[in-house]
Amino acid sequence: MIPEIINFKLTSRCNHDCSYCYASRSDKELGLEELGGIFTRAKSWGTKGIVLCGGEPTLRREFDKAVRKKDLNIDGLDFYIDLVQTHSKKNFLKFIKIN
Ligand code: SF4
Repeated sequence: MIPEIINFKLTSRCNHDCSYCYASRSDKELGLEELGGIFTRAKSWGTKGIVLCGGEPTLRREFDKAVRKKDLNIDGLDFYIDLVQTHSKKNFLKFIKIN
């Protein structure tokens, strides 16, 4: 069965430190090339969309490059974003503008 929507952890970074959460314990992030490869593969399976989550996804380094579908060569795949309340407003507006 092909998942139509995939939740993808874009980063573990978060500007909160909730005691029960493991998300902010690591700051490892995949490179842009690896991201593009994963999303391209998901698209080839027939997946329709990716929910970008974290941590807080807008805190990812090179955020705008990581959500620019044209650069990642994945036009046709929908991106959604799952924000923490204190997300980066600047990067969220970039996400809306790009997507
Ligand atoms: S990702 Fe959510 S639960 Fe985890 S530290 Fe951030 S706000 Fe808290």
